[in-house]
Amino acid sequence: MLILMKQNPTKEQVDGVIAKIKSMGYSAHLIPGENDVAIGITGNQGAVSADEFTLLPGVKETIPVTKPYKLAGRAFKSSDTSFTVGGATFGPGHFVVIGGPCAVESEDQTVRIARAVKAGGASMLRGGAYKPRSNPYSFRGMGVDGLKILATASKETGLPVITEALDMESLEKVYEYADVIQIGTRNMQNFSLLDAVGKLDKPVMLKRGMSATIEEWLQAAEYILSGGNSKLILCERGVRSFDTNTRNLVDLGGVLAVRQLSHLPVCVDPSHGTGKRHMVVPMSRAALALGANSVIIDVHDRPKEALCDGPQAILPEEFADLVKVLRLLAAPLGMHVSGS
Ligand code: PEP
Ligand code: MN
Repeated sequence: MLILMKQNPTKEQVDGVIAKIKSMGYSAHLIPGENDVAIGITGNQGAVSADEFTLLPGVKETIPVTKPYKLAGRAFKSSDTSFTVGGATFGPGHFVVIGGPCAVESEDQTVRIARAVKAGGASMLRGGAYKPRSNPYSFRGMGVDGLKILATASKETGLPVITEALDMESLEKVYEYADVIQIGTRNMQNFSLLDAVGKLDKPVMLKRGMSATIEEWLQAAEYILSGGNSKLILCERGVRSFDTNTRNLVDLGGVLAVRQLSHLPVCVDPSHGTGKRHMVVPMSRAALALGANSVIIDVHDRPKEALCDGPQAILPEEFADLVKVLRLLAAPLGMHVSGS
């Protein structure tokens, strides 16, 4: 439920409503506007009775919120969320290009590619140190050594780093090194991990589960937001499809849907989404054109030697050309590519 206060309510009136909410065992979220104030209620299992609030001093009206996600939806917060990480702004009017290898393989490989994506116009470096792999015999990442390599690459290039936490153990380490903590598609409903990152003071990117509905995705986001962490980016990385021409099906309509339902910035992963190098550039252009806030792209200078996901990695030259085109496309759309 959302409680709208009369114009310019006094502090006592607002505090009175918050105290009432807390006395019922729920959480109160203050949503200040220019002249008015709204207070959102979370933590309730069923509907909250409006009668409890309509007679309190300063209350104008109560609005039931029927969606199962509240903090992630636009009912509690209609304006787009915006925050900056290492100079890159995730929010309206900005487009953040993230590039780097799927996996950290060695210091030489990561620093080489980090320099290349920096020169090509990236605003953030990606690279997995803990890799969720379908097959246990595949390369599963360098762990803490990989995180240290990312720190070196970040220092060399000035790029902030996004990297994945797989579980509670890796989260502790990732928290130390990452600028943005990535929660992968396989962990979208790992509720203890979502609770844990919700309590942290570092931005999180939550990838959509490969078979998750948008409502499930937003409820997963709600776990993180309700823990107090409001710096959250959603990432569409493709969903399972009956067709095998692409690795996954990038749900571009879903990006539009989630942008309408939620105020959170949305990133598109055209690499994991398509699994095919030749589709990454056009899909990235599409992401910008339809109003996403960011793309996260696998880049490798020796994709044939890549230990993970080589077929979907674009070359540094292709990446640089793509960023040039994104800058041109951004201007007439009233957007700005971060770092340019
Ligand atoms: C990744 O970005 O490295 C990754 C494993 O992505 P996803 O979780 O979308 O498969
Ligand atoms: Mn990958």
